[in-house]
Amino acid sequence: MLDKDFFTPASLAVIGASGNPEKLGYVLLQNILEGGYQWGVYPVNPKEREILSRPVYANVRDIPDPVDLALVVVPGQAVMGVLQDCAARGIKRIVMISAGFKEIGEAGLEREREMLRLAEENGMRILGPNCLGFIDAGIKLNATFASGVHEAGNIALVAQSGAMRQSFWDWAQMTGGGFSKFVSLGNAANITESDVIEMLRDDEQTQVITAYLEGISDGRRFRSLAAAVSRVKPLLVLKVGRSAAGSRASVSHTGSLAGDNEIHEAVFRQTGIIQAQTPEQLFDYSYGLATQPLLRGDRIAIITNAGGPGVMASDAIAASGLQLAKFSEATVDQLRAVMPSFGSSSNPVDLTGGATDEMYRQVLETVLADDGVDGLLVVLCPQGPVNVAGTAAAVAEVSPQFDKPVFANFMGALDHDADLAVLREHSVPNYLSPERAVDGFTAMNRYRRWLEMEVEPAVKFDYDRTAVEQTLHNDSQSEPRVIAGQPALQILEAVGIPTARASLATDAEAAVRLAAEIGYPVVMKIESPDIVHKTEFGGVVVGLDSTEAIRAAYETMVANVQKHGVSRIDGVMLQKMATGREVILGLKRDAQYGHAVLFGIGGIYAEVMKDVSLRVAPLTRRDAADMIHEIRSYALLAGARGAEPADLEALTESLLRLSQLAGDFPQIRELDINPLLVAKIGEGVTAVDCRLVI
Ligand code: ADP
Ligand code: MG
Repeated sequence: MLDKDFFTPASLAVIGASGNPEKLGYVLLQNILEGGYQWGVYPVNPKEREILSRPVYANVRDIPDPVDLALVVVPGQAVMGVLQDCAARGIKRIVMISAGFKEIGEAGLEREREMLRLAEENGMRILGPNCLGFIDAGIKLNATFASGVHEAGNIALVAQSGAMRQSFWDWAQMTGGGFSKFVSLGNAANITESDVIEMLRDDEQTQVITAYLEGISDGRRFRSLAAAVSRVKPLLVLKVGRSAAGSRASVSHTGSLAGDNEIHEAVFRQTGIIQAQTPEQLFDYSYGLATQPLLRGDRIAIITNAGGPGVMASDAIAASGLQLAKFSEATVDQLRAVMPSFGSSSNPVDLTGGATDEMYRQVLETVLADDGVDGLLVVLCPQGPVNVAGTAAAVAEVSPQFDKPVFANFMGALDHDADLAVLREHSVPNYLSPERAVDGFTAMNRYRRWLEMEVEPAVKFDYDRTAVEQTLHNDSQSEPRVIAGQPALQILEAVGIPTARASLATDAEAAVRLAAEIGYPVVMKIESPDIVHKTEFGGVVVGLDSTEAIRAAYETMVANVQKHGVSRIDGVMLQKMATGREVILGLKRDAQYGHAVLFGIGGIYAEVMKDVSLRVAPLTRRDAADMIHEIRSYALLAGARGAEPADLEALTESLLRLSQLAGDFPQIRELDINPLLVAKIGEGVTAVDCRLVI
């Protein structure tokens, strides 16, 4: 574990400090000295004697006092020498701002490996390389080469791009938000995002952790860590970019439907991470969570002095899964007594253009006191007699009296910067639009629901593991290979997912005999190692109900397939005809996280519909239930318009069993059950088609 004092060093050396104001080594030193850091700062440079009125040491070994952390900004080729000096000096904490590592290719990669070896041998922890450095606002240490001194706040930002610091800075200037720590990971060669997030979990100044990530260093660690951290404080992630591993062409529906980004999103959902799609969302969401008490329910009230923003906010609430709070009669009576008769005393409360700050104050108190209100959005449009400063003061004074989150959307913020200072001082977040404020509530509500959910274990079933093993290894072909048709269904059967009874016939008469055994009506399918989607070859006929139909289907099917130039035909498979709605269940092995489990509307149009949901195995019962609820067509399964509701219990169990199969057999690369037929309640599910890639 990264030690908790890494970012609060008691003294530091700046190796590569420079007297030339155009060099990073100058700017870095200047930022440290100007930021207000109180302890020892030792510039190191063999060619300089004094920089910014500080004595300079030729080598880190020459510094007579203890050195807690070394910031390194020397050219790439000098890095290893410097690290050896640090090792000799017993310095264990290094921030490698220097570039010239993995990011430049082969030569740099070798240097990075060498650096890691040295770190290993000497018990050093290294931030970077190729990073911007870090900021600890608590001890006023700006150890970056980006200028601007931050007001201390309680949001931590971990970023794989140093440029995010500038983004945050711009936003902080506008809103008054501030951070506890900023950590630029650079190449994250030694200290990874998980190391920093773990440390921030225990950092008292940090109330909210935000992260900008382009990739994840260790998916499994990240997943378990994130689930634990987000129980302690909100963890928000802006994930960008796609990793190269995801670009490999897929051979299954699941493979192509479960992209890298979708898998990341699934992990975020399962671990309580609040995902942001843009930097604005990252900051907006964290600002609300960092400054206001948590929502205890989802009922939001709106107070405004202009109709439009009230409507916009109401629309946003309706679209986001929050509720527009309903006021008690007592509240409505009290509101009527203080506001203009032509205003609206129900939610959204419209005080109209005649609103005064005193009116706002009384209405705020009344609305916040209503037990049916969990959170409040105060909108103000600078118009009519309204006193912006007075109203802002009223919000700042009234809101802390109630343990409920209050967000503001005071428009005209640029014209009224001084009037709104009181909001910043009292940590009432002022959002730039009603939608963004509601979005902030939505993120907060998601976090509330996560905290309210109990931790569930993954479900385990007993099943015939040996039978699965035998079928998986039954084959001398080299990997990767495909298992389809009957053996694939046998694997499902062994794991406890019901399948349509099936047998293979190699001529028409055998097919007729088998059909009689299975019982009419039956389905006939071509069995050939060369065919992926049988329907496309005329290789599936359903609803065969007589011997004549079977003979005819056999001839046509074989002829069809041969016409397409397929020569390897093992025969035809006969299956009992099953009923139910067609869904797809699938697995895809992900290099980072293990197996993704997919669910969606299935059949031959699965990829056209793209109506799917994803989670990463192992699944809990709640994960499986959420997957089923999440798809757009859920209503069709639940029984829309008088249709019989489908057996969702059996479907849930199939998902859980599939998740367990994935955990037990990591060699499964991809798997499609398409379709699984879900019959009505009590009648279970039937897998009729399955393919695995091993
Ligand atoms: P492929 O996906 O290779 O084209 P499938 O075995 O999935 O072949 O069959 C295609 C379609 O035929 C299925 O989506 C389903 O609608 C129908 N079907 C296949 N087998 C059965 C069965 N046993 N009972 C009912 N319908 C079936
Ligand atoms: Mg199919």
